[in-house]
Amino acid sequence: MAHHRKLPWRASHNPYSIWVSEVMLQQTQVTTVLPYYQRFLQKWPTLQHLAESDETELLAAWSGLGYYSRARNLRRGARHLMDHHDGTFPHDPATLKETPGIGPYTAGAILSIAFDLAEPLVDGNVQRVFARFYGEERHIEERDTQKQFWKWARDWVMHAESPRALNQALMELGATVCTKSSPKCSSCPVKDSCFGNLHQCPETFPRRRPRRKVKELYWLGVVFEQNNKLLLRKNPTGGWWQDLWDFPTIALGKKSDLKRARTFLQKHYPQVGDWTALAPQKHSVTHHRIHLHPFVARITNTTLGKVPASERWWAIDKIDSAPTSSLVKKVMRAYY
Ligand code: SF4
Repeated sequence: MAHHRKLPWRASHNPYSIWVSEVMLQQTQVTTVLPYYQRFLQKWPTLQHLAESDETELLAAWSGLGYYSRARNLRRGARHLMDHHDGTFPHDPATLKETPGIGPYTAGAILSIAFDLAEPLVDGNVQRVFARFYGEERHIEERDTQKQFWKWARDWVMHAESPRALNQALMELGATVCTKSSPKCSSCPVKDSCFGNLHQCPETFPRRRPRRKVKELYWLGVVFEQNNKLLLRKNPTGGWWQDLWDFPTIALGKKSDLKRARTFLQKHYPQVGDWTALAPQKHSVTHHRIHLHPFVARITNTTLGKVPASERWWAIDKIDSAPTSSLVKKVMRAYY
């Protein structure tokens, strides 16, 4: 623990702020999370504030962090804890896991870090440490391998003097010493018992299934501008970026250069005279890579006629604080 990084959520044993930080840190880098975490806790400092929050404001504050279902689940979870547990976090793991958005990892983090209870947790860093330490040959994605990681995590935490210190130390070890590439085995406190170090092959663990091939998608992004407003479309429920606002997009089907994209656009919107191309953008979602050609058209209020209910004109200076996908933020940077 003496060597741990100075992170704001490590300074606290408050279960609410630990919960917020752990949810933000899922799939997201520490440096990205830091400013969001601080702003979030200033705006919603307690469980009660979050339970009473406005969802649109919450999504706007989350905008740019990605994986927006995390924000919705935080709010649902806060409501659940207010309604069923008087705004407290139950100490029983099974009861805590009934809270929307709190799964085994998050429950382990809250119970061990906030309350020093002997509950295990396994994240990507902990998996890497265990896979190397024990020389785990099975693919990390397999159910049995996952069960094994949890079993080791439980064994370790059960024997720890302080579950809080042990779990944080394991995560720190993975984040700072047992790193994905170039692990610093010579300065690792468990090096004398570690399979990966003793066999001089730490980087061959964890074993992984071969990667899924990346699917390339080619899209047109349509930015309609009128009276200092831009037209955004709300994404339908169940798809990518559900309920967030986006520029209308059109799938181009196959790889496209700027010329083909422009021709396609002119065919799709024959009533629009003039299009200005913005810088193309790339964006990754799961195993998809989106290649977006954004175009701007300045139009009058008769060009499109009445827009459907799923579309709305947004004042340009309000878009940065609107609940939009990360792709909109990239397009807006190219637009300004
Ligand atoms: S000795 Fe090396 S491989 Fe083993 S846990 Fe430490 S850093 Fe990781």
